Amino acid sequence: MASPMAAQAWKLLQALALLPRFLAARSRAVQLTSRRWLSLQEYQSKKLMSDNRVRVQRFFVADTANEALKAAKRLNAKEIVLKAQILAGGRGKGVFNSGLKGGVHLTKDPNVVGQLAKQMIGYNLATKQTPKEGVKVNKVMVAEALDISRETYLAILMDQSCNGPVLVGSPQEGIDIEEMAASNPELIFKEQIDIFEGIKDSQAQRMAENLGFVGPLKSQAADQITKLYNLFLKIDATQVEVNPFGETPEGQVVCFDAKINFDDNAEFQQKDIFAMDDKSENEPIENEAANYDLKYIGLDGNIACFVNDAGLAMATCDIIFLNGGKPANFLDLGGGVKEAQVYQAFKLLTADPKVEAILVNIFGGIVNCAIIANGITKACQELELKVPLVVWLEGTNVQEAQKILNNSRLPITSAVDLEDAAKKAVAIVAKK
Ligand code: GDP
Ligand code: MN
Repeated sequence: MASPMAAQAWKLLQALALLPRFLAARSRAVQLTSRRWLSLQEYQSKKLMSDNRVRVQRFFVADTANEALKAAKRLNAKEIVLKAQILAGGRGKGVFNSGLKGGVHLTKDPNVVGQLAKQMIGYNLATKQTPKEGVKVNKVMVAEALDISRETYLAILMDQSCNGPVLVGSPQEGIDIEEMAASNPELIFKEQIDIFEGIKDSQAQRMAENLGFVGPLKSQAADQITKLYNLFLKIDATQVEVNPFGETPEGQVVCFDAKINFDDNAEFQQKDIFAMDDKSENEPIENEAANYDLKYIGLDGNIACFVNDAGLAMATCDIIFLNGGKPANFLDLGGGVKEAQVYQAFKLLTADPKVEAILVNIFGGIVNCAIIANGITKACQELELKVPLVVWLEGTNVQEAQKILNNSRLPITSAVDLEDAAKKAVAIVAKK
């Protein structure tokens, strides 16, 4: 029989053999977990735009029907446009679960604004960009409506294939840019911008012309495009989309809609903007996990995965799939974990009623396995957990950890490696 030392070394070697896979998986997992792209609501985007002299309509934001009514009166406009605030597009053609059709309404009567807002706030709005059940509307924008004589499409984005920012525009009205790119690519115009030189007037003018602005409207549109580009750069946006970028019969170029996205890596130098993130459209469980510095991703199977690295998370999910099972979720503990976090992590993982088994896969590099084992034991006892656990622990202080788990009398199945752990977890749920 091999000595315990040799067995240890063998396990470590096996783990190391998997290392390239872990590393490859890590890059995918990082995209899944930590690269959340902040999106602002339309009213927040428009505030940034108007602060930077980009033309938007006068507006107020309301979170009750009564406030919406007051805002409509205060605007004192010929006509008012009322817009549900959710991050998804296609609101105009959306439907509320109150029965109301349309997330964007025009009216001349402030009282109608109040009545419509009542059927918007607190209800879900479903559009072609939301999940089927829609997204709950917490706020509405009450803006001065303007007549639109022509609508165009304008976006500024960071494009990997160009290694920098690109203006994308189309003179076509009411378009879906992805569909358009497929069906009529000749109607989409691009202008690549050198990020060090900035936008040239000739580029802004050319885009304005391609969008079909003529006469004095052309230089006005070019001026708006330049200001939008400078804002894009200043706030570290990854995308500014204006659809429609329109003109009025009175000869004004106006951004009628606005969507700005950001790269999480910009957070350190854009604190004011990231502070605007209301997180109300996140999954509540993801927010709760973030409160404890944990990363939770919900999936649709029945095996919960408890891991301590994004790469391990992906590898664990992969191996479950390869063995015919389906992960219910995964929770990444990260490094430097405390016992209290382990407890919270278990609570989150098992809050999902779909979970029929838990696979623990911890590689103790920085993490001390004994802390994890203590955390698991306490959590299972306090939560009176009945769900079977399959555990593969490896690394720092693993023997102590094994002892703690063995003495805990919990329904634990140990595994000799990750493959074995996945097989055992899949077998447990298959029996149910
Ligand atoms: P989306 O459907 O989520 O993209 O929301 P939009 O803000 O783009 O609004 C939908 C549509 O409503 C726009 O494409 C416009 O045609 C129309 N719309 C929005 N604001 C106004 C406005 O002030 N006046 C007029 N006449 N139409 C507007
Ligand atoms: Mn729009």
